[in-house]
Amino acid sequence: MNPPASSKELRIVGDRDTPAGYELREFLFRSGVAYEWQEGAGSELLCYLPDGACLRSPSVREVALGLGFVHKPRFELYDLSIYGAGPAGLSAALSAASEGLKTILIEKGAVGGQATTSSAIENYLGFPDGISGAELAVRARRQAVKMGADILLVSEGIDAYIKDGLIHNRLADGGELVARAGICATGVDYRKLELPEEARFYGAGLYYGAGAGEARFCSGREVFVVGGGNSAGQAALYFAKVARKVTMLVRGPNLSSTLSRYLIDRIAATSTIEVRLNTAVTELRGGRTLEGISVRDSESGVTRKLACGQVFVCIGGNPNNAWSRKTRLIRDEAGYFVTGAELQAFDGALRTWTLKRPPFFLETNVAGVFAIGDVRHNSVKRIASAVGEGAVVTALVEKYLAESERDHALGRTDTPGR
Ligand SMILES: Cc1cc2nc3c(=O)[nH]c(=O)nc-3n(C[C@H](O)[C@H](O)[C@H](O)COP(=O)(O)OP(=O)(O)OC[C@H]3O[C@@H](n4cnc5c(N)ncnc54)[C@H](O)[C@@H]3O)c2cc1C
Repeated sequence: MNPPASSKELRIVGDRDTPAGYELREFLFRSGVAYEWQEGAGSELLCYLPDGACLRSPSVREVALGLGFVHKPRFELYDLSIYGAGPAGLSAALSAASEGLKTILIEKGAVGGQATTSSAIENYLGFPDGISGAELAVRARRQAVKMGADILLVSEGIDAYIKDGLIHNRLADGGELVARAGICATGVDYRKLELPEEARFYGAGLYYGAGAGEARFCSGREVFVVGGGNSAGQAALYFAKVARKVTMLVRGPNLSSTLSRYLIDRIAATSTIEVRLNTAVTELRGGRTLEGISVRDSESGVTRKLACGQVFVCIGGNPNNAWSRKTRLIRDEAGYFVTGAELQAFDGALRTWTLKRPPFFLETNVAGVFAIGDVRHNSVKRIASAVGEGAVVTALVEKYLAESERDHALGRTDTPGR
């Protein structure tokens, strides 16, 4: 029912500097699948699966299918459905399944979310020497599956509606999944530079996130990291182990307001990292691949052209909420889902709320639908808090399901979960 742990025999022949090649590498890296990459500039992407089959120019989904990662749901009705298998969704799935709830986790790509692009997570309890995001994700996936959760990979949730008191999750492949309660844990997607030509260079020199999976291709090269937050700091330190030089391009006037102290100290102690403050990227240039950027110094007003082949953009994210456009879930101005007592501050948010009790802490304005992790309004953008919310929400889901059972037994119909 769920993905095998890993395979060591996957081989890919292809052009490294293409979006298709990059997306496939990202998926495999995040899924903990070892692969051999054979460079074939300008050639068709060929993927040789462990069973010997060769897929020509495959999509990520086709490779996932070939690896046996894509499955059908086991049940017609689940107790709980979760959109998003980042740290929050994985934690909720593990915790709900361990409590005996029939749980299904729906993920549009590979498990692990943003955390998987991190090379070393050092502020998560129990890992004094740090752990890579990809390893944490693979372990969490195994643990959730062991507890009985179903995980649907490369399956995007595109909508959800409530009918006869049940949540119907609509998936991009045309399928529909029904559950008594639902959790949105869709996190955030990388913010873009919003520059002309950005889409053209994606995967061909321009990458988003800390690029832990790409470090093997940065050996001896100069790498640019855009951003001044913890993810950018981690990326710079990681690339510094293999790259000739790493340049951090930071828009703000210092690192201290955006970066944790331990990362500032390490960056200062690494001679191959240069930090350029007050610096914004204003242009991307190149032919088939990225060859240069322009940067503007906001203090001097001077714009400079720099030659570069690899730029990693780590400038935060925007909430993944596209799936909820047709729903009546309340979001704040920036698009984050509002839950619990914070709904009171949003005009009319509880107009359609019919239960006698107010929404639980992590419950949205639709009873039985919860939001956790980075996609939640006012959340702490950390792995520990996402994982913590995943554990807490299970207790709230159980309360909600018990209440809906009771209401049903009493003939009341105002709880949606039945
Ligand atoms: C490079 C980097 C390094 C970081 N390092 C640290 C660190 O060292 N320590 C720390 O505490 N925090 C760190 N963070 C922050 C941390 O990773 C996030 O706070 C955490 O991942 C949030 O978890 P989440 O599950 O809420 O969301 P996400 O991690 O964003 O996961 C959301 C998941 O939902 C999926 N999804 C989105 N839309 C849909 C849909 N419609 N259908 C199905 N699936 C969908 C996404 O594909 C994704 O897998 C780092 C972040 C980055 C980017």
